[in-house]
Amino acid sequence: MDGLIEKAAQAVLGSKLTLALTGAGISVESGIPDFRSKGGLWDRYDPEEYASIYSFQKNPEKVWLMLREMEEIVDKARPNAAHIGLAELEHMGLLRSVITQNVDNLHQEAGSKDVIEYHGNSRSLTCLWCNRHYDYTEKKGEYPPYCACGKILKPDVVFFGEAIPIEAMTRSYQLASICQALLIIGTSAVVSPFNVLPRQAKQAGATIIEINLEKTVLSDHITDILLQGKATEMVSKLVSAAKKIKGL
Ligand code: NAD
Ligand code: ZN
Repeated sequence: MDGLIEKAAQAVLGSKLTLALTGAGISVESGIPDFRSKGGLWDRYDPEEYASIYSFQKNPEKVWLMLREMEEIVDKARPNAAHIGLAELEHMGLLRSVITQNVDNLHQEAGSKDVIEYHGNSRSLTCLWCNRHYDYTEKKGEYPPYCACGKILKPDVVFFGEAIPIEAMTRSYQLASICQALLIIGTSAVVSPFNVLPRQAKQAGATIIEINLEKTVLSDHITDILLQGKATEMVSKLVSAAKKIKGL
């Protein structure tokens, strides 16, 4: 493993533009379950049903039962060593942007400045009827939260069946097309169109470094360096190796 970490660190140091793509797995050690975690939120709420815009439009009260539990979990969560390690890499000038599928705000809380939120953020709400926007603190403790127009508000997270925010999609695609190293951390890489980005980076000639507890659909064909293990451990080791090589 040490050899692989060293190789990954060299790839990051030798790259003019490095990106990190993150998924739910990077926040699991902060206490937020991914879709695969057993015995938690997603055993009671099938994501296919509860994270779909059609379900929300049909029965927002029902979907808010899940959103309320998710909000309580996210409120308690703090950034872990993997979020902090990525912020440190950015600070050292070794990472341009984090492109995340997560909606938990933990990259920003860890200190990352350039975070592209591919699936939105749960910290603001919008009314699908009159398009009014609210900060989540204005509606804290209201379940479900109502708009001034009387309709139930939706958090600004991208549900299955909704479009990706155009700016996030365009910028991610542009960066993936020119990056030289790509870190992919804690994602099963099956959600589309996010899963186009690793392929885009590969075509651009980037070195693909994957950190995951297990192999994914990317591991055998797209990934160049697989660091199999916990996100906290692998990112910390990668940051330490990069610092050591740089003599810091
Ligand atoms: P996923 O649940 O499909 O896959 C998570 C991946 O992370 C798996 O491959 C798993 O092996 C890996 N993993 C789990 N724990 C890990 C750890 N400690 N270290 C390293 N790897 C670990 O998640 P996805 O690919 O992000 O897709 C799910 C969708 O649901 C995304 O849109 C995601 O944003 C959303 N979601 C977000 C949150 C959040 O905001 N924290 C939580 C649940 C789901
Ligand atoms: Zn409204």
